[in-house]
Amino acid sequence: MSPSVTQAPLAILGGTFDPVHIGHLRVALEAADALASELRLMPASVPPHREQPVATASQRVAILRAALAGQDRLKLDARELSRSGRSYTIDTLIELRQEIGRDRSLVLLLGRDAFCGLSSWHRWRELLEHAHIGILSRPGHALDMDDELASQVSSRFISATSVADHGAFGKVFEIAVSALEISATAIRELLRRGGNPRYLLPDAVVDDASLLMPYSSSRAVDAISG
Ligand code: ATP
Repeated sequence: MSPSVTQAPLAILGGTFDPVHIGHLRVALEAADALASELRLMPASVPPHREQPVATASQRVAILRAALAGQDRLKLDARELSRSGRSYTIDTLIELRQEIGRDRSLVLLLGRDAFCGLSSWHRWRELLEHAHIGILSRPGHALDMDDELASQVSSRFISATSVADHGAFGKVFEIAVSALEISATAIRELLRRGGNPRYLLPDAVVDDASLLMPYSSSRAVDAISG
């Protein structure tokens, strides 16, 4: 048997992770299990599609490291932070594909909203030449694709359970994950108001108040440590 057949897929979840929260971690774990894949969280340094993060790249990485400590199912891949300029996913996929070869499955994981906005991404049509796209899909939410996106992907949908039969890239599938209505925006707002983020963020992050300083007023740090 060739090594490619036995190799687990590589799945990546990109994002600003400003900060990473248990919604991200839980869906990443569920996707990794559903695909029996290696899973890497990949923070973006200068995300092209949205406003700039509140925390710096190194502050966000420090939070990610604390969040991932003590387990080895989810990994951190900080390559986009060492690249100058904007973080384009197409560049990352090309680089990863060069590293893993043509035969290993590569899966770009996207939240439903991120997927539905795909047609505004830089060189988006090329993404599927390098990876599959796995949509983290929460029960009860339909996919609201624009016409351009729908025409590009509608013939490529497969079921998440059949990924292994469909080559290393080029397909689109939904992965059912838990609906956790947690957003980094809401957590930043909570911290700004001096609220306590426990049970929204991993304990290791909450327990090290210095990690959340970028988001906090002094009242917030007091609330967490108090
Ligand atoms: P913000 O509120 O700052 O926009 P976010 O958490 O929505 O933060 P990112 O950090 O960029 O944004 O998210 C990374 C990826 O995780 C995206 O694909 C996003 O759709 C997905 N995601 C974010 N929150 C959840 C959640 N609670 N459940 C499932 N997927 C999520």
